[in-house]
Amino acid sequence: MLHSLNIPSNSPTIAEIDLTAFNYNVRRIKKGLKNSMLLAVVKTNAYGHGIVPISREAIRAGAEWLGVTTVEEGVLLRKSGITAPILLLSSITSEQVTDSVTYNLTASISTERFAYAISNEALMQNRIANVHLKLDTGLHRFGIGPHQVIDFCKSCYHLPGLNWEGIYTHFSSADEGDWVTTESQFNLFKNTVATLKQHGFIFPIRHVGGSTIAIERADMHLDMVRPGVALFGYHPALRQRKDMTLKRVMKLKSKLIHVRSLPPNTPVGYGGGYITTSTEKIAIVPIGHGDGYKRSLSTKGEMLVNGKRAKIVGTISLDQTLINVTTIPNASIGDEVVLIGTQGEEEISTREVAEWMDSIVDEVVASLMERIQRVYV
Ligand SMILES: *Cc1c(COP(=O)(O)O)cnc(C)c1O
Repeated sequence: MLHSLNIPSNSPTIAEIDLTAFNYNVRRIKKGLKNSMLLAVVKTNAYGHGIVPISREAIRAGAEWLGVTTVEEGVLLRKSGITAPILLLSSITSEQVTDSVTYNLTASISTERFAYAISNEALMQNRIANVHLKLDTGLHRFGIGPHQVIDFCKSCYHLPGLNWEGIYTHFSSADEGDWVTTESQFNLFKNTVATLKQHGFIFPIRHVGGSTIAIERADMHLDMVRPGVALFGYHPALRQRKDMTLKRVMKLKSKLIHVRSLPPNTPVGYGGGYITTSTEKIAIVPIGHGDGYKRSLSTKGEMLVNGKRAKIVGTISLDQTLINVTTIPNASIGDEVVLIGTQGEEEISTREVAEWMDSIVDEVVASLMERIQRVYV
């Protein structure tokens, strides 16, 4: 809420967002698309990179569509003056139907109830709402099963407030490179679309995949692809590095705000989680799990100070993390600390942080709270 009062952030902890690298990634993926459209997935605050500047840059770089998961994100983009079509990738609730129609957001439909609700709302507003039909081909998150889809269309396709602009599915196992499962889901999707067509139910924009499909499976691009994480420089799987070069967009950095020497056998941090073995220099970095710098990084993670790695000691607290700078002789207050990115010859990649957390890069970047200022360069 601080930012709504426009209180400037003067914390040294910032996420530097390289819009040039982002623009490069969008163009690089677009180059591989031939005639398919590009929907830039900017959900979860653009994977932590800041949804409004990232969305503007995505459009500048050639994305035709944007994809979000919450109505609030869609409304924010509209209020920021973005006019590109915006697909809501999740299902919405009854309370969100009005905003979804009012702000011209393209809803994903997977129940009759919402088909009727959106059609009624659109008619009330004297307009036609563009919608996409979501098919469940095996992720079993949401979507209509292929066996119910004909009945669904008989009941809902001709609702007067709806324009069925697209149809899509989302694969369960593409990132894992499970092509047997993915191809069977793709075939199920194509066969279902063909059956629907035979019944006169036409959906002009067909789309099935995100980053992995954009990078590896040109045969599955259809009319549109929906990459997210790759736009921020991350391959969903390491095997894809040979297929496409991408540039990391985020650098996370801070400064040492305190450095002290502690004698041997001194417990450090909550619960005395770390005990010095000799005289050690322990520094404080003003970021914690309240910022989304996860507690699971305690004792495992590292940060860069003066081009060298310093290990996190003890337990990360809400707002602070302690690091051991004993082997970095000149470490002193005010020194730059790099948590993600390069410093001198050294680099800490987002993937490395994800491995320390036993997680994936998406979680590392998307978890960073809004109170960490994004600085665009
Ligand atoms: C998140 C999401 C994407 C993007 O996935 P990435 O692996 O980040 O490219 C695409 N489609 C849907 C439906 C999603 O929810």
